[in-house]
Amino acid sequence: MRLGRERPEVGPGIVEMHPRWEGILRGESPLSAMQRVYRRFFLLFPAPWRCKFCNAPFKGPAAGTLRWIGYAPSAKNASICAR
Ligand SMILES: [Zn+2]
Repeated sequence: MRLGRERPEVGPGIVEMHPRWEGILRGESPLSAMQRVYRRFFLLFPAPWRCKFCNAPFKGPAAGTLRWIGYAPSAKNASICAR
C-alpha cells in the first residue's frame, strides 16, 4: 500500500477510494498477489480463448472442469468469465 505517500486531491463530491481497494487495484496488496498466482496457474492450460481478466480457459481440455466452478463466458460479455 502507499503508506507515507501523499494522496492526490479528490474533486468535490468524489469519495476517496478505500486504501484496501486502492492496494488491490494497484497491485500493491497481498490480496492482488493471489490474483496474479491464479492468473499464472490458468496459463498452464492450453486454450485458444481465455477470460481477459483472469486467464481462465473457455475452450480446451480444462475448460469443462472450470466451467463447473463458474469460469464460463459471461452472457453479457463473452471476453470475461461469469464469476
Ligand atoms: Zn475471469
